Amino acid sequence: MTFRSSRRELLVSGAGAVAALGAGAGPVFAGQADGRKLGYAIVGLGMYADVILPRFAECRHSRVTALVSGSREKALRYAAQYGVPESGLYSYETFDTIRDNPEVDIVYVILPNGMHHEYTLRAAAAGKHVMCEKPMANTAAEAEEMIAACRAAGRKLMIGYRSHFEPANREAMRIVREGELGRPRIVTAETGFNIGDPTQWRLNRALAGGGSMMDIGIYSLQAARYLTGEEPVSVSAVESTDRSDVRFREVEDTINFQLTFPSGVVANCVSTYGSNHNRYRVVGTDGWLDAEPATAYNGNRLRLRRGRETVELTPPALAVNQFSGQLDHLSQCVMTGAEPIVAGEEGLKDMRIIEAIYRSAREGRAVTLQA
Ligand code: NAD
Repeated sequence: MTFRSSRRELLVSGAGAVAALGAGAGPVFAGQADGRKLGYAIVGLGMYADVILPRFAECRHSRVTALVSGSREKALRYAAQYGVPESGLYSYETFDTIRDNPEVDIVYVILPNGMHHEYTLRAAAAGKHVMCEKPMANTAAEAEEMIAACRAAGRKLMIGYRSHFEPANREAMRIVREGELGRPRIVTAETGFNIGDPTQWRLNRALAGGGSMMDIGIYSLQAARYLTGEEPVSVSAVESTDRSDVRFREVEDTINFQLTFPSGVVANCVSTYGSNHNRYRVVGTDGWLDAEPATAYNGNRLRLRRGRETVELTPPALAVNQFSGQLDHLSQCVMTGAEPIVAGEEGLKDMRIIEAIYRSAREGRAVTLQA
């Protein structure tokens, strides 16, 4: 069987056939940047900073020029590893003096969620552009303040939604939005993991803003939105948390939510801190698309069903990975004046929907969202 897409043609010889990903796999373009590499300051040297820092080696427009940590010993160790000068090392107390460092263009906030708001405001006040990790903040009100602060300072704000730069996810968006499945009807998205240490910040309400929904369920929400390309008009959610479990004294464990979109497509989503999930499926009138793992750091896999054929779409040998793609995108936007494809406004949309999800679960009714 052969079927066409607008940008590439897949030749399918039978069930389980393998095909290369198409144009959706390419880098995200943000205008013609010059040959400079902009300097990033990494704030918070935890688990995810360890994922990000090595990826600067693959960047064309970005380099790491400063580190912010509560531990001088740790900062010196990381500085030696990543070639950051001692003049680029800051503590949380000295962070504001980063305004005097011309080697820093962008501050990347990789702190617990509850600290995103404060450090984004401080970075903007220091005249720096900001990359802020997901979820953008603890509340939509905080997110609004972050957008306003960056706008007032004339600085860009981007959220670390790496899936928008990941080839398999970009191809999935293209397939659904260009109608290769016919009319999308049902999206299912499940994200979760079995959370351990009960003393970690992810289980502390002030530092996390909430439970699984803020941390991992946001990937299900994002997928439902970026796959359909639509904004939900209503949400209905049910929470399930064993409050006698020492991990869930302050935040929720599982929350199942349903989003209804203007075209009629419905997304059924799972967010949990109790079991491992990382997948989504879109079923349309003419076929389905399945991703598992869907939003992993690497090795994401897509399968596409059309007619009687199922084809596995294999990610290409990547010129650009999601991490360096994300980092370079903001650098390019700063250089060209373009707006990031996942600017602060994108993070704010998620915060508003998450608040509606919590409200729906709390009040036991569907909540209508403003267009
Ligand atoms: P982590 O606990 O491993 O690291 C947090 C860092 O913040 C540590 O260096 C810690 O020392 C520092 N910190 C400063 N003040 C702190 C305080 N009061 N309490 C706790 N830590 C404090 O966390 P992480 O997994 O690196 O997550 C950091 C952020 O990155 C979170 O917002 C998270 O949602 C996000 N994240 C994003 C991805 C992604 O794929 N985009 C993946 C993981 C984490």
